[in-house]
Amino acid sequence: MKKLEGKIAVITGGNSGIGLATAQRFVAEGAYVFITGRRQSELDAAVRQIGKNVTGVQSDVSNLADLDRLYAEVKEQKGRIDILFANAGVGEFATLVAITEDHFDKTFGINVKGLLFTVQKALPLFQDGGSIILTASTAASKGVEGFTVYSASKAAIRSFARTWTVDLKQRKIRVNAISPGPIDTQASRLSLSGLVQSEQQSEQLKKNLVSTVPLGRMGSPDEVAKVASFLASDDSSYVAGIELFVDGGAAQI
Ligand code: NAD
Repeated sequence: MKKLEGKIAVITGGNSGIGLATAQRFVAEGAYVFITGRRQSELDAAVRQIGKNVTGVQSDVSNLADLDRLYAEVKEQKGRIDILFANAGVGEFATLVAITEDHFDKTFGINVKGLLFTVQKALPLFQDGGSIILTASTAASKGVEGFTVYSASKAAIRSFARTWTVDLKQRKIRVNAISPGPIDTQASRLSLSGLVQSEQQSEQLKKNLVSTVPLGRMGSPDEVAKVASFLASDDSSYVAGIELFVDGGAAQI
């Protein structure tokens, strides 16, 4: 039997990067997956790429009405959720002096408020014994220059995994966080290119970043997906409240 046979999963930010790789892996392991993203065209492309056992629901996690619409759709189609991967997130650089109210509100609105309500509003559809996985980041544990607001937002997520583990213990729902290090996705490429003027500088920045990783390379989205799949499945039945780093050792040394 496949690891996630018959499970119903919701993945926010499932139309690219880590979320898309995880949706593909969950489906390969037997789950039915609902993916979300803000742009319909990208969502449609992701649904085509996944190919089967998937529904795309356009929704913005920072918009509570969108979350209600998402879960109404899940309820109507499947009636329950077994696995929630609260993965949608944004990360933009701004030095302390350059931080604006908009930058703060956008980052916390998506990464913190959006993730909190993504989980809260899913709870009525959870059956006892489900798994909730939150995407945090190594940035929460390190001092990354110019990443004040993003890092703090991810530290909040790591904290949520602790508190919700006790809040949800009566319902036997396990909550864990995954903290990726540098993973080769659109988000990390955009963040890097936003810091520099040229392709050449971007390559240099990538080299510097990789030099901080003991395994000597960036990770792939599927390397995070494999860990999400472990936390989603019964293989991790005695794992709760943790932060599992998928970072090639970058934040461990
Ligand atoms: P990505 O840009 O490929 O994926 C981000 C996803 O989030 C996209 O699907 C996007 O549509 C979605 N999203 C963004 N804002 C949203 C909103 N308001 N509502 C709904 N969906 C929204 O990047 P990724 O690297 O796959 O990022 C996934 C998660 O991993 C993010 O939370 C990110 O902070 C985290 N992360 C990434 C890295 C990395 O190096 N790539 C490292 C640590 C943590």
